[in-house]
Amino acid sequence: MEILNYINGKLTKSKSSNYLDLIEPASAITYGSIPKSNADDVDEAVQAAEQAFVEWKNSTVADRSKILQKIADLIEANAEDLAKAESKDNGKPIHLASKIDIPRAADNFSFFAKAITQFSTETHESIGLQTINFTLRKPLGVVGCISPWNLPLYLLTWKIAPALAAGNCVIAKPSEVTPLTAYLLSEICIEAGLPKGVLNIVHGLGNEVGNALVTHPKVKAISFTGGTSTGKHIAKAAASQFKKLSLELGGKNPNLIFADCDYEKMLANTVKSSFTNQGQICLCGSRIFVEERIYEKFKTDFVAKVKKLNLGHPSEASSDLGAIVSKSHLEKIESYVKQINTDEAKLLCGGKRVVLKNFENGYYFEPTVIEVKTNKCSLNQEEIFGPVVTLMPFKDEAEALALANDSRYGLSATLWTKNIDRAMRLSQELESGIVWINTWLNRDLRTPFGGTKQSGMGREGGLEALRFFTEPKNICIAYNELP
Ligand code: NAD
Repeated sequence: MEILNYINGKLTKSKSSNYLDLIEPASAITYGSIPKSNADDVDEAVQAAEQAFVEWKNSTVADRSKILQKIADLIEANAEDLAKAESKDNGKPIHLASKIDIPRAADNFSFFAKAITQFSTETHESIGLQTINFTLRKPLGVVGCISPWNLPLYLLTWKIAPALAAGNCVIAKPSEVTPLTAYLLSEICIEAGLPKGVLNIVHGLGNEVGNALVTHPKVKAISFTGGTSTGKHIAKAAASQFKKLSLELGGKNPNLIFADCDYEKMLANTVKSSFTNQGQICLCGSRIFVEERIYEKFKTDFVAKVKKLNLGHPSEASSDLGAIVSKSHLEKIESYVKQINTDEAKLLCGGKRVVLKNFENGYYFEPTVIEVKTNKCSLNQEEIFGPVVTLMPFKDEAEALALANDSRYGLSATLWTKNIDRAMRLSQELESGIVWINTWLNRDLRTPFGGTKQSGMGREGGLEALRFFTEPKNICIAYNELP
């Protein structure tokens, strides 16, 4: 299979004539190629987007809404094929792609198709001063959307949909590790009749295509989701042009479990928040802190449940966990577990690669639970982004809060308690952009999404995304009083 760029409404090869391998993580088999595009491809896409912007920015909200809804409908109509492609490309279990990734990609388009129709101009009347101010929200122009491999279509469309809805033209740069569903999206956009140049998708490496996008003087804003170190690099590269940035970065999220919680609900959800998508979701609760009184019971019950998880081929309906996305990521995860310092940590289960019958070269890693004695260890301070969680007891609320906040990250936190006063106290003090109380991964697309500290800058979702992709322009009119 040959992945192509989508530039100026056409599927095209890269000007570089170089290619990267498309590898299936479940088997390590190369099943296609993606263009290793370069700065010339990005420049061509920017020119196409600039031309398209002239008409797109003046299109009616109703027309834009209609075409976004058409894209949503086509994603739904092709959901089964898209889910299979996502599972093959990423290694995630097919049921996850079918139930979460692809429906959410369709929802992203239909949500912003509606949201844009309610996004209104603000008016401020200054009585006594005889002025009326109104604030327009103008599209920025050509914007760049750069996304990671863990939720490929879901996260890419979460950026593209609001950018297009607000009247911008987009250059999207999907992860080179998982380009397949972005390619299928290009075909859907052609079928939906999206005008040429409004959306362009350029495939290739981050330090080539991504960097060319970030430094291109005609690209007005970058919406980025990925690792913290890449985010820092982008912030520096974009600084000299004062480019508008939204950065959704890494996490090391605490999961705080109190003895007064609904135990069975917490246990089932903690297994999910630890290992869904092989732990490769930025919102996974990778640091589990448990109140001393129930720590030993929790440890026994949790490890027993984790040992029962079914790791298998991603296409099998019975697989709870599938493959790790790439060989290099598998090696990174393994290196954290291999380096365990026995003074600081004890392996409770997992910790090894898995060799799956008939798919011996695939990238599989056991769900792994490690007990740690300190939150200062690298297992608790660094983002592993795999099926590895740590357990540690705490004495009281104050210690739980201190442990949770002792991190350079601040994306999300989860709390399990029936005590509403405690839940409210802690959620006010937790240094994170999102706090879930007695639930996990519960997302309403209207709410702001993003992190504090080194988990990012800015927010996505609902109004926040439409605000990011528009520039406010204030217009002040003075009027004379009646004589
Ligand atoms: P990554 O930072 O390596 O890559 C993300 C994207 O950036 C890719 O498309 C890549 O090609 C591109 N890129 C790489 N170098 C670049 C450069 N110099 N300039 C411009 N673009 C560049 O991240 P990843 O490994 O694909 O994804 C995993 C990371 O993403 C984890 O840290 C995870 O926590 C994070 N993530 C965060 C969120 C969130 O919402 N906060 C969501 C999902 C994933």
